Amino acid sequence: MYILDTCAFLTQNHPEGEIATISEIESELNNRQSKQYFTNMKEIGLKIREPKVASIDKIRMNSKETGDLSVLSSIDLKILALAYEMQGTIVSDDFAIQNVALHMGVEFTSCSGNEIKELRKWKYRCSACRAEALEKVDSCSVCGSEKIFRFKAK
Ligand SMILES: [Zn+2]
Repeated sequence: MYILDTCAFLTQNHPEGEIATISEIESELNNRQSKQYFTNMKEIGLKIREPKVASIDKIRMNSKETGDLSVLSSIDLKILALAYEMQGTIVSDDFAIQNVALHMGVEFTSCSGNEIKELRKWKYRCSACRAEALEKVDSCSVCGSEKIFRFKAK
C-alpha cells in the first residue's frame, strides 16, 4: 500500500499498486491537472482514509523527538499517521515527512528521486544568547529574545 502525499498528484509520478491518501490532500492541489488526476485516481481505486487520533498523536510525539514538529502541517501529520497505521510506504518529497518516517521505521519513497539517507535531528537556538531548546519556542527562556533559529544537531 502506498500513501500518497501532494507530490504524487502534482507530478503524477508515484509507484503503482494499492494507493491511499487523506481527503485534505485535495485542498493542496492548486492546478486543474492535479485536481483532475486526483479525481481520476479516485475513480480507479484511490482510497480516502482518515487516520485515528491516536495515530496522529503518536506522529506528533515522534516528530517532536526529531525536531520536525514545527515545520509539519496538520496535513503532513495526517499523511504520516495514515502510513504508520496502514503500514504502508509513504510517497513524499517533503524531507521533514521523510525524516519522521525514517525515525519511526515507516518506509518512504519520493516523487522527485530525492530521499534523505540518514536521520536528521533538529534543535533550536537563540541567536542572541545561544541558549538551546529541543522544541520551537516563541521567545528564548533565558534572555527573552524572539530570534530563534533551527539548526541540525549532530
Ligand atoms: Zn536567549
